[in-house]
Amino acid sequence: MRVDSKLPRVGTTIFTVMSALAAEHDAINLSQGFPNFEPSERLQQLVFEAMRNGLNQYAPMPGLLALRQQIAEKIALLYGVSVDPVQEVTITAGGTQAIFSAIVAFVRPGDEVILLEPCYDSYRPSVEAVGGIPVIYTLIAPDFKINWQEVMHLIGPKTRMICINTPVNPTGAVLSDADMRALETLLNGTDVLVMSDEVYEHLIYDGVEHASALRYPGLRVRTLAVYSFGKTYHCTGWKVGYCVAPPALTAEFRKIHQFNVFSVNHPVQAAFAEFMKEPTEYTNLPQFYQRKRDFFADCMAQTRLKPLPSYGTYFQLYDYGHLSNEPDIDFCKRLTTAFGVAAIPVSVFYSDGRDQKIIRLCFAKTEDLLTAAGERLRKL
Ligand code: PMP
Repeated sequence: MRVDSKLPRVGTTIFTVMSALAAEHDAINLSQGFPNFEPSERLQQLVFEAMRNGLNQYAPMPGLLALRQQIAEKIALLYGVSVDPVQEVTITAGGTQAIFSAIVAFVRPGDEVILLEPCYDSYRPSVEAVGGIPVIYTLIAPDFKINWQEVMHLIGPKTRMICINTPVNPTGAVLSDADMRALETLLNGTDVLVMSDEVYEHLIYDGVEHASALRYPGLRVRTLAVYSFGKTYHCTGWKVGYCVAPPALTAEFRKIHQFNVFSVNHPVQAAFAEFMKEPTEYTNLPQFYQRKRDFFADCMAQTRLKPLPSYGTYFQLYDYGHLSNEPDIDFCKRLTTAFGVAAIPVSVFYSDGRDQKIIRLCFAKTEDLLTAAGERLRKL
C-alpha cells in the first residue's frame, strides 16, 4: 500500500539520536532539555494524596477550575493582567499540545504562519500537518536579533499567525519590551494571531523581566499564550501546561482540545492547584537557574568552546568554529563518542539546516554532572 506522508521531512529527531548515542557511549547527556533532579517532595505528595482522595477519573474538559483560578491569580500578580479563569484558561497536556491545538484551531490549508528560526521543533510540523505554509524569518548568531521591519515584509493577506517564543529555545535569547511593542504596532489593524510560547517564563536571568505577550493590550486580544508546568516545577514527564487566550479564541481552541485530548491528568492538576498557592516556588526559579547557568559557565571556562550569552531558558550555546570545520551534527556526535558529552547541533532548529558551528548544552543538571561535563570537555 502506498503511504502518502503529510510530513515527509520528519524522521527520527536529533534528540532521540543523541540520547541513544549518549547511552551507548556512557556520555553525560546535556542534549535534551530536562532536569536530572526531582520535583519537590511536597508536590509529589500532593499528587499521591489526590489519587488517594479519588481524583482518578476524567477532569473537566477545560481543566480543574481551582487550578485555572490559581493561574489567573498568578498572571495578575506577575503581569498585572486580568484573566478570566472560566473563559480564558485551558489546561493542556503540556506546552506542545497547547501549541498544536492553537495551530489546528486557526490555521487552514494555504494559510501562512510566520516562524522565527531557530525555534522549537514542533512549530513547523504542526503547521504543515494542517496544510499551513510556514514562512520563515531567519535569526543569526551571535545575538539572534529580530529586525521587525523585515518581519513586516513577510506579512500579507494570507498570514494567519505568527509564532513567537521568549525566552527562546534554543538560543537563550529573550524578547525585550521594545520587541513586543514593535510586534504590537506591526499587527495593529490586522487579523493575525500570535502563538506566544512562554514555557520558560521563569527561566530568565540578570534581573530582566519576562515580556509576556499578555502585558501588551494590542497583543493580548490576538494571543494564545502557552505555558508548561514541566519547566516550572521540574516535572517535564508529567506533561501538563496551559493556554491563555481571550474568550473567542479560547472557544475555538477548546473545540480542538476536546477532541484531541478532551481532558488532562486529574490528580496532577489537583496537586498543582494546591502547590501554586506558594508563589516562592516559582518566584525563586530565576535565581535557582541563574546559579546553575553561572556554575556551568565556570565549569566550562577552561574548555576551548566559546560561550554565547544565555539570558534565559536552561540552555547555553557554544561556538566551536575556531576549533573545527566539521558540520555541527558531526561535531556533536564526536563530542559524545570521543569526549563523553552529548549536545544538540543548532542547525536542526533551522529549516534550511543553517550551520553556524554552534551547539546547545542544557544546564538543568546537578552540579556534579555539570562539573564532570566541564572536565571532560577540557580535553577538547
Ligand atoms: N516550547 C518550547 C520552546 C520548549 O522548549 C518546550 C519543551 N522542550 C515546549 C514548548 C513543550 O513543553 P511541554 O514539555 O510542556 O510539552
